Amino acid sequence: MNQKRAFTLKNLTEILSETTDRVTIYRALKLFLKEGIVAKAMNAKGHTCFFYLDHLPDNKQTEAYLECENCDQIFGLPSLPDQYLNQLNAYQVKPLATLLKGQCQRADCAG
Ligand SMILES: [Zn+2]
Repeated sequence: MNQKRAFTLKNLTEILSETTDRVTIYRALKLFLKEGIVAKAMNAKGHTCFFYLDHLPDNKQTEAYLECENCDQIFGLPSLPDQYLNQLNAYQVKPLATLLKGQCQRADCAG
């Protein structure tokens, strides 16, 4: 399993189904989220995806992540401007973390 990519709960259930049931996977993910081991973000298909924060080179705590179309690796994109985030706070809105498709800038991208 290439751990630098993102996985949906369905992906993880398929990968681990022979050894672990869906509820156990979900509970583990919830704990990993709480402990800051993994992050989750919604992709363009509306699926929640999970990924290891340790594998992100930078911008681990952001509202937008990039999933490379070529190598599947996840990257943290720059955070939204403070002014915008402050306006969201006025409405008591929490930004939804999104996973955007694009192309990484790595010279050794496997794409
Ligand atoms: Zn790439």
